[in-house]
Amino acid sequence: MPEFFTAPRLTLLSRPVFTEPAHLGVAWLGEASDGERLAEFAGRLCYMSQRNPAGRTTREYLENIKKQGHGSVLEHANYSILVEGVSRSLTHELVRHRAGFAYSQLSQRYVDESDAAFVVPPAIVGDAALETAWRTQVEGAQATYVALVDELMTRYGWVADKVHRRKMAREAARGVLPNSTETKVVVTANARAWRTMLELRASEAAELEIRRFAIATLRLLQDEAPAFFEDFEVYTAEDRREAARIAYHKV
Ligand SMILES: Cc1cc2nc3c(=O)[nH]c(=O)nc-3n(C[C@H](O)[C@H](O)[C@H](O)COP(=O)(O)OP(=O)(O)OC[C@H]3O[C@@H](n4cnc5c(N)ncnc54)[C@H](O)[C@@H]3O)c2cc1C
Repeated sequence: MPEFFTAPRLTLLSRPVFTEPAHLGVAWLGEASDGERLAEFAGRLCYMSQRNPAGRTTREYLENIKKQGHGSVLEHANYSILVEGVSRSLTHELVRHRAGFAYSQLSQRYVDESDAAFVVPPAIVGDAALETAWRTQVEGAQATYVALVDELMTRYGWVADKVHRRKMAREAARGVLPNSTETKVVVTANARAWRTMLELRASEAAELEIRRFAIATLRLLQDEAPAFFEDFEVYTAEDRREAARIAYHKV
């Protein structure tokens, strides 16, 4: 039986490391992560205000940056997240976010999907009849995939390079795999780009699975670097699902 996901699995892979130059030290106030300090350092360089004349903490400084719409300062801080337990339909939507993003996704041409996991669409989780209907289709599709790969490996027996032969078989057989097939992707983006994506995909208008992913990503990033993301507010929408709204739109 395949594994079924009902939530994304997120792992923070990388965060900024800030090395303060000795000749341009900043009069920091308050606790902050390296990513937040990097952005503050970059912002302060513009006006050579390292002495911090307004006496702002890093959180207050970055709050003002967001309020003023100086989002380019946030582009210095990049975060990479390993995303698992999401569907191919989710990543199809996610990769539309281009500016400031980098992606590396599991290849269905190279990787055998005979034991692939699947993501249960949030709308049908908990409804036994719908889940059974969905599982029947998904498991049937996977069985067909396995049979097609097997058949195509025989058909392309004349291809000497076995890796290439497998690729030819898998790239054709994957045509029967459903949108719900689980995938893995490494996503890197700067704080400004994450904000733009999260605003769109954590909103009530977004599809439920990507919305659930966006809320989970938001929580991870709020924990990591609150000054970049604390103006997002998570709430329960009329459809009884979580959504998030932002105070400073598209900085
Ligand atoms: C609820 C919802 C429904 C959707 N439905 C559909 C749909 O039915 N069909 C469909 O095809 N897509 C759909 N999309 C995807 C949508 O059209 C965008 O492709 C996606 O949201 C990425 O937005 P973006 O281009 O602003 O993001 P990014 O590529 O991350 O860009 C961020 C910002 O950078 C700037 N920018 C980026 N690239 C350029 C450029 N080349 N030129 C000028 N400025 C640029 C823009 O200001 C842009 O807003 C939907 C999105 C959402 C949130």
